[in-house]
Amino acid sequence: MQTIDRSTVWPYDEQGEPKKFFYSRYDHPTGVAAETELGRLEGGDALLYASGMGAVTATILAFAKSGTTVAIAEGCYFGTSKLLGLLAPWGIDYVEFDQRGMPPEADIVWVEAPANPVLTMPNWEALKAHPGLVICDATVATPVYLRALDEGVDVVVHSATKFLTGHHDALLGATVSRAAHSSRLREIRGNTGITASPDAAGSMLQGLETLDVRMRRHTETATEIARRLGEHPAVETVRYPGFSGLLSFDVADPRAVETSTRLIVNATSLGGVRSSMESRARWEGGRIPAGLLRLSVGLEDVDAIWADLEQALPPRS
Ligand code: PLP
Repeated sequence: MQTIDRSTVWPYDEQGEPKKFFYSRYDHPTGVAAETELGRLEGGDALLYASGMGAVTATILAFAKSGTTVAIAEGCYFGTSKLLGLLAPWGIDYVEFDQRGMPPEADIVWVEAPANPVLTMPNWEALKAHPGLVICDATVATPVYLRALDEGVDVVVHSATKFLTGHHDALLGATVSRAAHSSRLREIRGNTGITASPDAAGSMLQGLETLDVRMRRHTETATEIARRLGEHPAVETVRYPGFSGLLSFDVADPRAVETSTRLIVNATSLGGVRSSMESRARWEGGRIPAGLLRLSVGLEDVDAIWADLEQALPPRS
């Protein structure tokens, strides 16, 4: 059992030296307990941040400088490409590439396993041959389905807001890496102040206790929903990587479908116990197919989720 210590400050020792915990912007007991558990699951050093984008920002600041080119997976999380665009005045460039093939020449390659929302997977063999730093956002795979460090990735990034906490109640990010990279990340985190709150870390500690069982149920249900969607005449394309709870599919009028569900919440985000769905074009414009609906399959009964989708989709003729 973990109690959440919300202190921001702890006294120095009798010699006047800082102890392990002295100021919570650098480290706090609940954060360290949650990092230890995530690090054990991923096989590396975990660090928590104020959000997934906080983890993305810390990683870019830690390893990019003026003149750096970052090659990012096409169709990866929109916020990552948006941030890289915002960093142009700092001399950081980005290009997009199809992560199923060879990455282009770049100082940093940023892949997503699988990409949200197009759900492609990286080509691990091609990445091993790349001389640049390889970063993998494994938010959707989670360590239940992928230990990206074992695939040769240098830094794993998570929006822990999603499956790792799993209950739509905490904004949190994480990186996992080997010691050489984690010391740089720790320095950036502490000095920029992109630190996780003790409460969010506590939510992840609780979430990790059920991660394995939740992920297996997400997968079981999403596999069946993907199969049924594939057989529906109003559905054009179904994208599902075969694991985890995220899928996407195309329809002629996504706005009509997303606003007609009752059980499935019409909202952004993903990875929680409750199913949610949204048209991604509202955020991403022409970057993704206009009819794409992203569905995060929750832990509700599979037939209840399907009944809700079926009544929201155009009737079968
Ligand atoms: N990475 C992926 C794959 C995401 O889906 C998200 C958010 O949706 C993020 C990063 C950013 O995470 P956060 O919203 O916790 O900042």
